[in-house]
Amino acid sequence: MVTELQDSSRKDWDTYFLDIAYMVSTRSRCPRRHVGALLVQGKKLLGTAYNGAPMGVSDCSEAGCMIVEELEVKLLDGQEQMVKKQRCIRTIHAEQNLLLFTDRIDREGSTVYVTDQPCWTCANMLANSGVKEIVYHRSYPKDSDNVTQLMQNKGIIFRNLPSYEPPAQAGMNVIS
Ligand SMILES: [Zn+2]
Ligand SMILES: [Zn+2]
Repeated sequence: MVTELQDSSRKDWDTYFLDIAYMVSTRSRCPRRHVGALLVQGKKLLGTAYNGAPMGVSDCSEAGCMIVEELEVKLLDGQEQMVKKQRCIRTIHAEQNLLLFTDRIDREGSTVYVTDQPCWTCANMLANSGVKEIVYHRSYPKDSDNVTQLMQNKGIIFRNLPSYEPPAQAGMNVIS
């Protein structure tokens, strides 16, 4: 007799793939933020990427972060204010590396799992990449409104999993 194992600890697909994205993110050498991204086609993993300097070039752990200061609009006590923000621009973002290392044909109709909500530039590129769904965990408020609107306009499913818990060994405090 074959008994079906009812294992409540079995991971659902979203958890399974986000766990992998977080493990991939641990390869990143930028101390400010580790981002991991996956290309998934019909539950099949077709590509992984993380944020990093181009191959053969010094990364943040060797050369330090490449910091720029940008002014950002922030809502403080109900008032819009300009605040100075620091950003590391040394790395190619995980989503952009994912697009550089996967084929268009594999991306058509696929799902991208990513540890962090894509920034505007990544979202713009993903919107033109053939991907039909994006699933992310940590939010990125700076670009969130524009990115959400773009995904709506493009008809790309854009899902956040706020209750997801990353694997303990892969979580980090993000400097935002
Ligand atoms: Zn860095
Ligand atoms: Zn980005």
